[in-house]
Amino acid sequence: MMTEIRQFFLAVWLWNPPYGQYALIALAVSLILAWLYVDHVMSRPAARGTAESEKANEIKRSINVRGHKPRRKPMVPFTLGNVTIDLQPGVKDILHTAIGGTSRLGKSTSVIPLYDLPIGVLTIALDDSDPIRDKVRSLADGIEWQSSPNSATGLDLLRGDPLICSEVLVGGFGLVGTGRWQRRARMRVLSALEAMDKHGHQRSIEAVAKALATPIPGESEANKACADWADRLQHLVRTLGPALGPGLDVAESLRQGKKVLLRMNRFLSPMDAPMLGGMLLVHARAIAVEAGVPFILVIEEAGQMANFQEEISPLTQAAGARRVSVVIITQNLSKLPKEVTNNTSVWVSFAQEDEAEMKFAAQKLRPLLAEHFRREEFPNEGRGIAYVRAPGVPTSLVRIARQRLLHTEDEDISVPHCQPEPEVENLPTPVDLKVLPAVPGWVDLENPVHIRAWKKLKYDVGPSLLWHPVTGFTEGEPCLVWTGTPGANRPKMSVPGGTATVYRETFVWAGGVIPEKYELDHLCGNGWCCLPEHMEPVTKAENLARQSGREKALKARAVEAAA
Ligand SMILES: [Zn+2]
Repeated sequence: MMTEIRQFFLAVWLWNPPYGQYALIALAVSLILAWLYVDHVMSRPAARGTAESEKANEIKRSINVRGHKPRRKPMVPFTLGNVTIDLQPGVKDILHTAIGGTSRLGKSTSVIPLYDLPIGVLTIALDDSDPIRDKVRSLADGIEWQSSPNSATGLDLLRGDPLICSEVLVGGFGLVGTGRWQRRARMRVLSALEAMDKHGHQRSIEAVAKALATPIPGESEANKACADWADRLQHLVRTLGPALGPGLDVAESLRQGKKVLLRMNRFLSPMDAPMLGGMLLVHARAIAVEAGVPFILVIEEAGQMANFQEEISPLTQAAGARRVSVVIITQNLSKLPKEVTNNTSVWVSFAQEDEAEMKFAAQKLRPLLAEHFRREEFPNEGRGIAYVRAPGVPTSLVRIARQRLLHTEDEDISVPHCQPEPEVENLPTPVDLKVLPAVPGWVDLENPVHIRAWKKLKYDVGPSLLWHPVTGFTEGEPCLVWTGTPGANRPKMSVPGGTATVYRETFVWAGGVIPEKYELDHLCGNGWCCLPEHMEPVTKAENLARQSGREKALKARAVEAAA
């Protein structure tokens, strides 16, 4: 027996068949068994308790901790811990991220990998935001603008179309009490800019302010409000000096793939902060419309920005419609309006202090419970623990690696404390904004067929022209166009059990009913559109009649327009 054992080990040692092969197999089997055992022990709940804690443990076991890599190489890879998500602009994937653990650097640090992407990143920060600032400063193509007279970069708010410039220059005024005269002031600013361009004069905020303050006979109330705004504009120019000068063309920088950080010190002055915040948001909206290249828009401290309802909602809508991925970092996600959240690609929430926020995050990160975000849930964890969820990525627990950041001495840009002005009384009434949902209600995120369809659907640019035999022409939301099967004669996709026409599917998913032998008429006339709101079930005869009716109506409209 001893001889045989000795021979066995000798055979293993010399790697001689057959014992060498047996040993290899035995080693492999024992490794697998050990791994299975460790995996079993690790995933076992720590203690048996009430039915509720059992349920919580069950959820915890179902959380993916192993990571996720997309099946194909992502175009714009965003890596968060062991999870890689394709964040290509235009794909309306929504990534939900909620940070747990301790505070300090958690939220902003989690999005630092975005700044290493090969596309432009525009960040608006309403606070000091150290990790992002340090990251941008460490990059060769990083540009930082800050609301300080010592800022090395001038932000050119006067660049481009006078229509947009005039909007930027009155952006944010709504918050400071005389919002109802905003439109009148914008008209005055617009004509001042047009006059400057016409006579070849250099545009300047001082000249705009002067024109704004020039009284117009018979408009005493508007004159007063406009003079007030002119005063504030002049004050802003005096406070910020060359920081509000020519220099930085943000749209061009994004075209070149640079990382632009617009950093606003909100303690600069209680009156300047809301004005500047509004102006930056309107400026960013113009850039989202103008840039024409993929870039990512990061809004840091969006909770603070939520005060600028009239500016932030159109900003995210413009970004959503222009396929710009919007990243929102805030402690107050649950308070943001749905016009904002519907058009956001990545949400980074810090859900552990506020009950509403915890519930909101838990709901977005199904199947988590609000309790999973409490500090006590992470007893041994430092900063940078996140839950992530995205289409195709189940809720995953992610550890965010600590970023090595370049430390720079921060200059003191504080100014003496200013007396805040009295509370504003006549705030403007909010307008009804049309919502372009990032993911429409009819998309069930648990249904792979829905996700597959939604990924191949793109919003068309601009409003659509709808025609109905009873109501005639109306303007509607942009068409949602199928891009999946370009060679085919109608939008088709494979579904379990065969092939289906995509717009019939989306119509039914949205709760529509198509009676037997009925067809769907496209009110928008676009046979590739799959927006349920653009469709109506009709008989075949009715559908044909409507087609010629629409053609006739279009011809009549063209003749009328030419006349
Ligand atoms: Zn349509």
